[in-house]
Order: sequence, then structure tokens, then C-alpha cells
Amino acid sequence: MHLRKRVLVTGGSGFLGSHLCERLLLEGCEVICVDNFFTSSRQNIEHLLPNPRFELIRHDVTFPLYLEVDEIYNLACPASPIHYQHDPVQTIKTCVHGAINMLGLAKRLRIPIFQASTSEVYGDPDVHPQPESYWGNVNPIGHRSCYDEGKRCAESLFFAYHRQHGLPIKVGRLFNTYGPRMHPNDGRVVSNFIMQALQDKPITIYGDGSQTRSFCYVDDLVELMLRFMRNDHEFCGPLNMGNPGEFTILELAKQVVEMTGSSSCISFEPLPTDDPKQRKPNITLAEERYRWDPQVRLNEGLAKTIEYFNKMLNAFMLK
Ligand code: NAD
Ligand code: UDP
Ligand code: UDP
Repeated sequence: MHLRKRVLVTGGSGFLGSHLCERLLLEGCEVICVDNFFTSSRQNIEHLLPNPRFELIRHDVTFPLYLEVDEIYNLACPASPIHYQHDPVQTIKTCVHGAINMLGLAKRLRIPIFQASTSEVYGDPDVHPQPESYWGNVNPIGHRSCYDEGKRCAESLFFAYHRQHGLPIKVGRLFNTYGPRMHPNDGRVVSNFIMQALQDKPITIYGDGSQTRSFCYVDDLVELMLRFMRNDHEFCGPLNMGNPGEFTILELAKQVVEMTGSSSCISFEPLPTDDPKQRKPNITLAEERYRWDPQVRLNEGLAKTIEYFNKMLNAFMLK
């Protein structure tokens, strides 16, 4: 028998997962972190290992997992386009088989389960900003589809388990999130631009930089994840989770160059296929149901992220 809440975080050693594990430990939970280290390393959670309430299990969620826990956060999945397109079949398996296994575990224990879905379910949206009621514009056979359709199938599975088995589910659609412990080489725009700027290398803008994204700082996102999971149990989602501040990629590049005092130039490169032109969450639901508003402005969040990458570069003497 255990008295503390025991929480399973899949993908727990990744960028978002490591912050979530840290926050849950701070709140007194026991945390079981499950990860196959496909896109992360132990480094992200090394500081948590001495904590007796933290346990790390190397495991691939596409295989069954039998544990006794009180709550699940299912975050396991490569998140950056480079990583999820590296092995598209494995990405689909992780999204779909991973969801089935975690839902099977939640069903056996009759416990709440959170799914990290994504704004990618909206594809290249023709409704702007995107409310949860928008069904999306996804190319089902394009290069991004392993991720987009994988996540859409996972959402479908979550709602099927909810309707068919009465499982308490929470489906959150995460928009671009950034912060310390992002992988420096996973090709995402914030980490790319900061790493390039700190090393005075050209800033690679894909296309003309007029496409937009909305960037949420990791602490704001984790706060909303917890509020969503713990309050208003009738509401399953989907819930948009992101910061509605919208920036063009060119604006982001200029801001990073300015904040780092870099001498980098800007290099325009081809736009990847199916790259969404604009993305901005409508967060009315999060505001009204969870009294949540992002607190960290882009320049504050970028400053913390730049500090992290700077320390990392200094430590590895790559600079
Ligand atoms: P990340 O790549 O840093 O973390 C993902 C973690 O999942 C890694 O530790 C990886 O090793 C692990 N993983 C991958 N496949 C696995 C498998 N089969 N079994 C076990 N572990 C596996 O990415 P992140 O940014 O922390 O993303 C976490 C989750 O949030 C993902 O599900 C992602 O789709 C979702 N998400 C993230 C963002 C974002 O901007 N960061 C946006 C939308 C959705
Ligand atoms: N599963 C798991 N851990 C559990 C319970 C189930 O990994 O504690 C897996 C199991 O391998 C199964 C999947 O979850 O294939 C779906 O479970 P469900 O009960 O929905 O389906 P069934 O077992 O009837 O196929
Ligand atoms: N991007 C860019 N340069 C880079 C990396 C990304 O211009 O070095 C662009 C990319 O084409 C996209 C946006 O930045 O339009 C966000 O890309 P990211 O891979 O971070 O996330 P996603 O496309 O999944 O939103």
C-alpha cells in the first residue's frame, strides 16, 4: 500500500517530461519516469535520481507495461520534425501502440490518464486562431503525417476508451513549447536559433520567415497540465495548451540575435513540405475553465533558455 500519489510519466526524461517530473516531486508525489531514451538522455533527469521518490525505468511504450500507479501522463513520443521523421513507422507505433498500452494500464487500474496531443492535429490550419472545435487540415500521406495522424489516432483512442470503458481521460493539445533542456540538435526553431546565435553561425530561416508560431514557456505549460489533470473531472478536453502570442519566424530570429548580441547573419533556406503557415491557439477554454493565462513573456522565456544553452556550450567547450 502507498499513501503518496504515485504518478507515471512516460517520456519523462524528455524536455517537457523532465520538467513535469521535477514539478510532481516538488509537490510530494512519487514519480515513475518511463523512457526509452530515443530523443533524450539521462542528463535531463540526473539531478532527480538521488530523490527516493523518483524511479527511472528504461522501457519502450510500444510494449506492454504492468505497474501500480494512481495517475498517468503520456508524453512519450519524439516531438521535433527531424526526430519524428527519422523513423516514421516507429513514430506511428509510439503514438498508437503506446497509447493503447497506456490506456490498457489506466483501464485496468481505473485511473486518470493525460495525453500530450499537439497543435499538429490542426495541420496547416485554414481557421485562425485555432479553437478546439476546429477539425484541422492535415495531409494524411505527407512527411509530417506519421506524427499528425499518429496523434490524431491517439486522440481517437482516448475518446473511445472514455466512451466505451468510462475511463477518465484528459487530452491536451500542446502548441510550440520551449525552455531549458530542449535538445540542442533536434532542429526545433527556438533551440536552432539560440545555438546558432551563440556560436555566431548563420541563422537558418526556412522559407521567407513570414510563417508564424506561438511559443509557450515550459513552466506555464506544466502549470496548465496539472490544473487540467486535477480540476473539473467531467471535462476530458481536447484543451488547447499554449501561449497565444504570435510571432513570425523572422521576428523570432531577430529577437534571438539581439538578445544574444550575436554577429550571426541570416541565411534563407528552402521551406520543408507541408510546413504550417500560421499557428496560434485560441485559449478561451483554458482561461475560463482553469483560470490559466501564460505568465512568461517571450523575451523572459528566451532569456532563461539562452542562459541554459550558453552554460551547456561552455560546459562542453564547444564555443
Ligand atoms: P522530447 O523529444 O524532448 O521528449 C519525448 C520523450 O519521449 C523523450 O525522452 C523520448 O526518449 C521519449 N520516447 C520517444 N519514444 C518513446 C517510446 N516509444 N517509449 C518510451 N519513450 C519514448 O519532446 P518534448 O518536447 O518533451 O515532447 C513531449 C510530448 O509533448 C510529446 O508527446 C510531444 O508530441 C508533445 N508535444 C510537445 C510540443 C513541444 O513544443 N515541445 C508540442 C506539442 C506536443
Ligand atoms: N496493458 C498494459 N498494462 C496493463 C494493462 C494492459 O500494458 O496494466 C496493455 C495490454 O498489452 C493490452 C493493451 O494494454 O494489449 C490494451 O489493453 P485492453 O485491456 O484495452 O485490451 P486487451 O487486453 O483486451 O487487448
Ligand atoms: N524553422 C526555421 N529554421 C529552423 C528551424 C525551424 O525557419 O532552423 C521554422 C520551421 O520551418 C517552422 C517553424 O520554424 O516554420 C517552427 O519549426 P519547429 O520545427 O520548431 O516546429 P513546428 O514546425 O513543428 O511548429
